[in-house]
Formats: sequence, C-alpha cells, structure tokens
Amino acid sequence: MLIDTHCHLDAGEFDGDRAQVYAHALLHGVERIVVPAVAVDGFAGTKSTVAAYSRCVAAYGIHPLYVMQAGEDDLVQVGDWLDRERPVAVGEIGLDFHVPGIDAARQQSFFVAQLKLARARDLPVILHVRRAVDAVLRELRRVRVRGGIAHAFNGSPQQAAEFIKLGFKLGFGGAATYSGSTRIRQLAATLPIESIVLETDAPDIPPVWLNRGRNAPGELPRIAAEVAALRGMPPAALIAATGDNARGVLGFS
Ligand SMILES: [Zn+2]
Repeated sequence: MLIDTHCHLDAGEFDGDRAQVYAHALLHGVERIVVPAVAVDGFAGTKSTVAAYSRCVAAYGIHPLYVMQAGEDDLVQVGDWLDRERPVAVGEIGLDFHVPGIDAARQQSFFVAQLKLARARDLPVILHVRRAVDAVLRELRRVRVRGGIAHAFNGSPQQAAEFIKLGFKLGFGGAATYSGSTRIRQLAATLPIESIVLETDAPDIPPVWLNRGRNAPGELPRIAAEVAALRGMPPAALIAATGDNARGVLGFS
C-alpha cells in the first residue's frame, strides 16, 4: 500500500487547491496520507482536513520549531486532543538544533512532556530530528514509547540502528532523489526493508524534478520508484513492504 507517512496537507500552501492536490495523489495511487499537526492553533485545521479527505489520518503534537509561541496550557490541550480524537500518533514532535533562536532547553521540555503523553496512551510518535539525532535518542531511551517514525531521517547507519532498536521506522522522501545526498541514498539503499517508510513532507522537501517548487503527495510514486531503484527492487515490492511497515507502526489498516 502506497502511504505518505508525512504530509502537511493542512498547510496554508494548499489553501488554494487542497482538493485537487488530494485528488491528484489518489489518482497516482496514494492510499493513505498521514497529516501531522505542528501547533495547537492548527489542530482544528488538521482535524477538518482529515475529516474532508477520507484517506487522511491525523497526528497531533507541538513541533520543535513552534515551542517558542507555545505555553504550558498547550501541553494540556495536546493531551485533550489525543484523548478526544484518538489520532494514529503524537506528532510532529522532536528537536531541531539547526534553526537558530529556538531555545534548546524549551524544545527539550516540550519534547519530553509529549513523549510522556504518548507513553501514557500507548501511542507511537512522529519525530522531527534535525542536527539533534543523539539528543533525541537520549530522550527516547529515558521515556520509552511504543516506537514510531523518524521522519526525513538523516543520520549515520549506527544511529539508524539505534532508532530501529527502539521500535522506530525511518522515513525517506524527496531528499533521497538528489544525487548529492550520498548518505541518505546509501541509507535508503541498505537499511533493512522492514525499517523504512515513505513520505513527501509536502509542501516541503521537493524531489529533484520539482526544481524547488511546492511538493505534493502525488509525487510519492515517483519517490517510491527512486528508492526502489536505489535498492534494486521492483517498485511494487517496495510499496508493499513500506506500506506494511507504516501500518504496523502506526496501527491502522
Ligand atoms: Zn513535518
């Protein structure tokens, strides 16, 4: 099953043509789209997006780049949304030490608090990890959740193995289509097939053929074909295996 495990279909970039973007993705064989929220004030929009488009499922959480405008009450609200909406995962949560001006300690405290919310509900998590792989792994060892997805994974093979041990799948998307992304392509080619899932991260991380234009979930089959070629396997087999992985870790049918 072709599953886009990370797509911000609720983002403002799609306000003008969301229905067409969704229809285009379905036309190209995308069967499920996971829409992770990034901030509490967007949760209602995430909810209405997944309600309007039946192949979409939601995750709710506070993204590390949005912690500066979030307060303690936002964490209470995340808990409430998780209880009320029963999403497939908590996300998008994590750590980002690449973008300047986002207090690291504050990121850490929101991340840990949300890991605890996930653990208390036995929910998987969708992780955003940028320049913070070891810091994220450290917290995951302290607060054991049931696993999840490390989205747009970019780490070493050793770090990948650590995530896998903790019950995580590693997400690959547009970045794997650039010939210069040697490390990511190497990982996509060599990691055990049981541990990888596909994603677009639309509207971000456009594959090479979009020339930095807006990414969309309809690009997923071509991304799948690229990853399949890197692994020397038929695209249909890769789509079947990664779809099973995504459904297994996020627990939907
Ligand atoms: Zn994202």
